[in-house]
Amino acid sequence: MTNKRITAHAGSVRIGGDAPIVVQTMCNTHTYDIEETVAQCIRMRDAGAELIRITVPGLQEIPHLTEIRDRLRAAGVGTPLVADIHFSSETALAAARIVEKVRINPGNFHKDHQKAREQFGRFLDVCRECGTAVRVGLNHGSLGEYITGLYGNTPLAMAKAAMEWLEMCIEADFFNVVVSLKASNTLVMVEAYRLLEKMMEERGFVFPVHVGVTEAGNGDSGRIKSCVGISTLLSDGIGDTVRVSLTEDPVREIPVARYLSDRYGHKLFSSLSSVTLEGRSAVATYAAPSRERLILDLSCDFGKRLLDRELDSVSFRGTYLDDAGSPVPIDNALSEYLSDELLQACRRRFYRPEYIACPGCGRTMYNLQEAFEAVKARTSHLKDVVIAVMGCIVNGPGEMADADWGYVGEGNRRVTIYKGKEPVLRHVPETEAVDRLVELIEAENR
Ligand code: SF4
Repeated sequence: MTNKRITAHAGSVRIGGDAPIVVQTMCNTHTYDIEETVAQCIRMRDAGAELIRITVPGLQEIPHLTEIRDRLRAAGVGTPLVADIHFSSETALAAARIVEKVRINPGNFHKDHQKAREQFGRFLDVCRECGTAVRVGLNHGSLGEYITGLYGNTPLAMAKAAMEWLEMCIEADFFNVVVSLKASNTLVMVEAYRLLEKMMEERGFVFPVHVGVTEAGNGDSGRIKSCVGISTLLSDGIGDTVRVSLTEDPVREIPVARYLSDRYGHKLFSSLSSVTLEGRSAVATYAAPSRERLILDLSCDFGKRLLDRELDSVSFRGTYLDDAGSPVPIDNALSEYLSDELLQACRRRFYRPEYIACPGCGRTMYNLQEAFEAVKARTSHLKDVVIAVMGCIVNGPGEMADADWGYVGEGNRRVTIYKGKEPVLRHVPETEAVDRLVELIEAENR
């Protein structure tokens, strides 16, 4: 069968086909705070975002979404908007009449699978009527019971779930669709997307793909993890739009996403100057124009090869330029640190806890970035443990996937601590929550 490669349209932005890889991000403001959200959207547009997503937790946010759109258009900001919807199909229907694209996770529209399918069908009708694009956005941590009952909580289950909803789009003759299958575990995420691409090719309809590593964390490790997962797929030819999820000001995600778009759009090349191979170990020499570029380059140059087990280790030599333009040598300590971070991002060796942290959004009810830093500072000595720091009690517990421990903001300066999927301490004051978490982990380790 000849493959039909589909192009989706979110307003003026084309996604898929021969279009360049689209850079997108998401607001972390409260949607009811119209001033803040509009200001953040403008900063995102100025930084190069080509699509901007805004959370819409329920129908009560629909007037705010409309006002945000109108103020942006009045200010000359034409960047297409994407409404991010969980659980409520009624909210998805309303948002589809307002913005250029709606992201849904159809599996969590309704607990009854048949009802969720009916709601999805109605949603597609409205999107067709309004010319609205759809993202079928599944996450590893929030697959429906129906699909995990059949395939477990696996990459195969993620790809099968996506195919079921895409099949409904094909049957409805609705093709303005983008699909995503995010996970914070790079191996799970890469395998899921590869399986999905194969299934779409076999079906003869290849929908555009939104790629990202969800809950990647922040700083160097968040950038390395994101680049490893996303670059592996982009170098396989999978991926039409990227979002880099960092637990930071979302404006800071955009240069990383832009780097990936430019690099895999062949507008930018690595600063890698030479590689020496000894068996399955590599020594790589760089002349990087900045520390950030060094990190992005090496993650893309070696992430896929480590993830796919073509290499077992890599060390680094050469220089990067500091802010004043002076060369800084990559010494043994930096090489070891970068190698450790890269191997951990590729899930080849764990030298510190594995952190999962959501980027935060309009549902976040506390200072997520500060809490994440506090958790990292107090737990960095631990090993063989996966710790999640999540911004809301609505989606956080479901989204933290395979974490051993969860620190989940409830709002009102309270936190629930999870062990696996079970809440073990509720309503802990924020000021005590990190202590309680560390005590629990250390007691368990003893
Ligand atoms: S888990 Fe984080 S990113 Fe996801 S909805 Fe909650 S606050 Fe937003």
